[in-house]
Amino acid sequence: MKYIFVVGGVMSSVGKGVSTASIAKILQSRGYKVAVVKCDMYINIDAGTIRPTEHGEVFVGEDGIEADQDLGNYERFTGITSTRANYITTGQVYQSVIERERNLGYDGEDVEVVPDIPNEIIRRINVAGKRGKADVTVIEIGGTVGEYQNILFLEAIRILKLKHPEDVALVLVSYLPIPKAVGEMKTKPTQYASRSLNSAGLQADFILCRAEKEIDAPRRKRLAIFCGIEPSAAISAPDVASIYEIPVNFEREKLSDKLLTKLKLKPKKKNMDEWRKLVAKIRRLQEPVKIGIVGKYFGTGNFTLSDSYISVIEAVRHAAWAEGRQPEISWLNAEEYEKDARKVKELNQFDGIIVPGGFGNRGVEGKIRSIKYVREQKIPYFGLCLGMQLAAVEFARDVCGIKDATSEEFDAEAKNPVIHTMLDQVQKLKDKNYGATMRLGSYPAVLSADSLSREAYSKRTIQERHRHRYEFNNKYRDRFMKKGMRLAGLSPDGELVEIIEAIDHPFFVGTQFHPEFTSRPLLPNPLFRAFIRAAKKRSTERKKVKK
Ligand code: GLN
Repeated sequence: MKYIFVVGGVMSSVGKGVSTASIAKILQSRGYKVAVVKCDMYINIDAGTIRPTEHGEVFVGEDGIEADQDLGNYERFTGITSTRANYITTGQVYQSVIERERNLGYDGEDVEVVPDIPNEIIRRINVAGKRGKADVTVIEIGGTVGEYQNILFLEAIRILKLKHPEDVALVLVSYLPIPKAVGEMKTKPTQYASRSLNSAGLQADFILCRAEKEIDAPRRKRLAIFCGIEPSAAISAPDVASIYEIPVNFEREKLSDKLLTKLKLKPKKKNMDEWRKLVAKIRRLQEPVKIGIVGKYFGTGNFTLSDSYISVIEAVRHAAWAEGRQPEISWLNAEEYEKDARKVKELNQFDGIIVPGGFGNRGVEGKIRSIKYVREQKIPYFGLCLGMQLAAVEFARDVCGIKDATSEEFDAEAKNPVIHTMLDQVQKLKDKNYGATMRLGSYPAVLSADSLSREAYSKRTIQERHRHRYEFNNKYRDRFMKKGMRLAGLSPDGELVEIIEAIDHPFFVGTQFHPEFTSRPLLPNPLFRAFIRAAKKRSTERKKVKK
């Protein structure tokens, strides 16, 4: 097996995850089988217990892994479904080393941070590669070089490279600032990052030069001299309008050829035609479809982050492009609607509204207020997980007349919990047993014959990914159905409500699952596509009215 390690330099959030996904994509397009692994430096066992504003979205795998959002990028770029094996954290590594020690698994030797921790990291990487039957395993190391936290992962690279010098390539994704006052691209921070790698016993083979602009010849030369690489190993990676352009840009720099040569693999024929066509289409599309996302995981100080909802955003984009529209997405803070009820009227300017997943009661009443507004105004609505649960609460209150309806998540003593704790969750909550204990991963749902969902999927049984502790309370089924709420998707045993749809509405759909996780650029999720179709219809009709 061959290995490509991707590490970051200078600062985070310059697109290391997307670069890793793009490297996997271009190798795949050359006919090689890839597996992609993310190594996170946290002591956390998984991302399930990390706040979204802290760490971005929790991406849920088919097998229920609660992972770093980068696994979403890997899936979207390569189309390969990740498993537990594709996500490694410091916590997992130490946990298994300690377990093995307790089981006398080290035959009486003393267990040491080096080499036992890096060896466990390597073992896990190999498991992921083998499971994916990969020719090349691409491994992204979280954080940036020079941090204490990821040093043992760098040590794993060093040890692996010592053993298999011909099978390991190292890519440094670095940032080259162009300070406004200077107007010139600076290589110095990258030189420091490269030195940092050197002091960990590593030498980058390639440097992906993330910057606002293309890197030019003089700077390639500087990087070559100061970082000890070939000038052609400095790969230009300028800002792009859409992340899906990145593999195409990398190929313009002949990156797959260079990587294959480095790893002594034969170059095979290229095939990225469909992808290129999509990229060209994205550039061409003009007419917008305006989608508002009413959420709460946006703020960090004075800045707005959208990372917490990245799969939702990408799913909207995929569907919009497939429907021939340019997505225009706005972040709407639910708490604003709590402060000022009249503000919900601003939702009228959108073609469709999404309330995504969430936890806890902050912002909940604001979300419910916006759901009431879009239901009454017949604006297409798509509720994902919490967004479905709140749609049920709103419908119970405002249509069924159950004024004190709520979810047990917000009021454990509620008289009318239309959303209540799942039976198998009650004890877990009492025991404060929170880690990886929700209803997680892929489950089937059966769609009712007359539903919008059935039409969208054109299938009777679907599989989608879940992450929740609460569910629709079956005691209220009859009342809901009588008032025009269709239970459009149920678990195969009929017990769990997975989809609700308001009948007297162009598109009012709530899903207990997260359809965003299965959407891919060339294969949008069917429900997102149906939602965008409804939004498109609203935008066309509104235009007619204006004329
Ligand atoms: N907090 C809700 C639950 O646990 C919804 C979860 C979610 O939106 N992912 O059921």
